[in-house]
Amino acid sequence: KDEEVFGRDYGSLTHPDDQARERILFGALQAREQNGYSIEKRYVHHDGRSVWISESLSVLRDSEGQPQGFTGVIEDITARREAEDSLRRLNAGLELRVAERTAELEEANGKLEKLATEDGLTGLANRRQLDATIDRELSRGFRTSDMLSFLMCDVDFFKRYNDRYGHGEGDRCLKLVGAALRASFHRASDLTARYGGEEFSVVIPNTPPEHVLQLAERLRARVMTEAIPHGGSDAATVVTISIGVVSAPITRERARAWYIKMADEALYRSKAAGRNRVTHVGVVN
Ligand code: GH3
Ligand code: MG
Ligand code: MG
Repeated sequence: KDEEVFGRDYGSLTHPDDQARERILFGALQAREQNGYSIEKRYVHHDGRSVWISESLSVLRDSEGQPQGFTGVIEDITARREAEDSLRRLNAGLELRVAERTAELEEANGKLEKLATEDGLTGLANRRQLDATIDRELSRGFRTSDMLSFLMCDVDFFKRYNDRYGHGEGDRCLKLVGAALRASFHRASDLTARYGGEEFSVVIPNTPPEHVLQLAERLRARVMTEAIPHGGSDAATVVTISIGVVSAPITRERARAWYIKMADEALYRSKAAGRNRVTHVGVVN
């Protein structure tokens, strides 16, 4: 309405946040750089509301090119701007939800990956990851005849341990043995795994056989220094393990089963010889 507009300075009709933008455009008109401009901006209604408008202004010039005045077209675009704003808000909300769901999915994937590759009790690699790792090492190393060592160990008189101390203590003992394995083999290429039950294994690529024997012996000693009392053992007064380990250059004929069988036979010899010891089989070529 006229009385709401007249008497107010034209510039002050425009929302303070939009004034600077328009001043620049208007300045270009005055400097004769432009003959018109269009802008989307807010007017401040006399009751304080903002109203979005689209304004197009053109300079009227006489035949000499002198400015005579302006013509302007002003259109209320509040409804369109509000629709755009709510669309923007909706989009932002949607993006946030997608980001949240993606993070949740990634976490769930991580958990699944852990479940699929880790043993729940000890946190070591499970049988599945062990098999995959041996196969990967074999296919990678046979061209260059890389050395691969495979270690199997088994807790001595563990059935008696469970009988005497209970299954819960048995599980606790397995966790400690698992920790001893992890502490003994920390090279990134070594893989410590729970083979099953109270049997563990380690894949040791590209390591000289003498060094492998030394590592195995250190693992056996480390389990003893855990000093887990075992009153039912004939081998010692504490929990001990027997170890069998094979070191052999990778060839086409030596599959995963071959390494497991060789380590298992070596382990059996450690058991037969009185337990709490290491049997190492080194194959030269
Ligand atoms: P040896 O010295 O010849 O290895 O004697 P052993 O008693 O350890 O051998 P055996 O294979 O006869 O027994 C292994 C026992 O390990 C059988 C089972 O009671 C126990 N065992 C296997 N898996 C688990 C497990 O996940 N938790 C517990 N607490 N015990 C287990
Ligand atoms: Mg066993
Ligand atoms: Mg055993």
